[in-house]
Amino acid sequence: MLLTQDAPLRLPPGFRKGIGHTANKSQVFKLLRRSRLNTVCEEARCPNITECFSNQTATFMILGDRCTRRCLFCSVKTAKPALPDPHEPENLKNAVLELGLEHVVITSVDRDDLKDLGAGHFAACIQALKTIPHVTVELLTPDFKNRPDAIQIVLDAKPDIWGHNTESVPRLYKQIRPQSNFTTTTSLLSYLGRQPNLALKSGLMVGLGETDDEVSQTLSLIRDLGVQIVTIGQYLRPSLKHWPVDRYVGAESYARWQHEAQQLGFEACYAGPFVRSSYHAKETYFSSTLKRPAC
Ligand code: SF4
Repeated sequence: MLLTQDAPLRLPPGFRKGIGHTANKSQVFKLLRRSRLNTVCEEARCPNITECFSNQTATFMILGDRCTRRCLFCSVKTAKPALPDPHEPENLKNAVLELGLEHVVITSVDRDDLKDLGAGHFAACIQALKTIPHVTVELLTPDFKNRPDAIQIVLDAKPDIWGHNTESVPRLYKQIRPQSNFTTTTSLLSYLGRQPNLALKSGLMVGLGETDDEVSQTLSLIRDLGVQIVTIGQYLRPSLKHWPVDRYVGAESYARWQHEAQQLGFEACYAGPFVRSSYHAKETYFSSTLKRPAC
């Protein structure tokens, strides 16, 4: 389904998801506020929030809610960030214990203002979570400018799965992510793909102006870099100030990419309108052969 550049924000039928309220969802909101924790679920206005919060899962967003970069598809605010909260690792651990989570996904804003780009804080959060027996930790990180010193700090904390989103196809990168670089992303994925005992994941959004063939080519490229799990989901425009939706992708395209991903040897490919990189993250990891033995 193709759209004009000025198409309104109203979603077509089949792309609207209920925003109901459940007891579990309210409990998660209260816990987040009490613990002074952010989630990308709220910041990115994720359409799955009712489902995920009702199942008492969330993707925690560490290092504050203000980002140093301005990607044209993202609803997280761009502003000078505050210093990292030193209590965040402990607050995160306590929230995970209260929710009884076995698999935790953490992401962050870009912190280009910090000397270590936020790597030390990521490591502190992973280390705090790893004191909980049998908890697995999945990351969805910025590119850390592909700086080896920052990447090593995070690797030393031993996350189980590292996600870094490709986001889009190379042709659109400069326009939609002006402060980022496709080569930096692929270099990071390539480096991480060579690390032992680390599962590697990446995600793509569609509906930004790419073609189906470009998505196929990008899938092949990231598979060659070592990506094992890939997610593909529909871009939804957060506001009229954001990059316009080019099209709502149909089921046959998702089926095509899933088939291609299987042929390329991905461990898992989740593709569909509401798929986000952290959607059903626990089930994906636990059902894959990538899961490490419990320690
Ligand atoms: S899909 Fe991910 S970001 Fe969206 S609500 Fe669920 S956990 Fe949060």
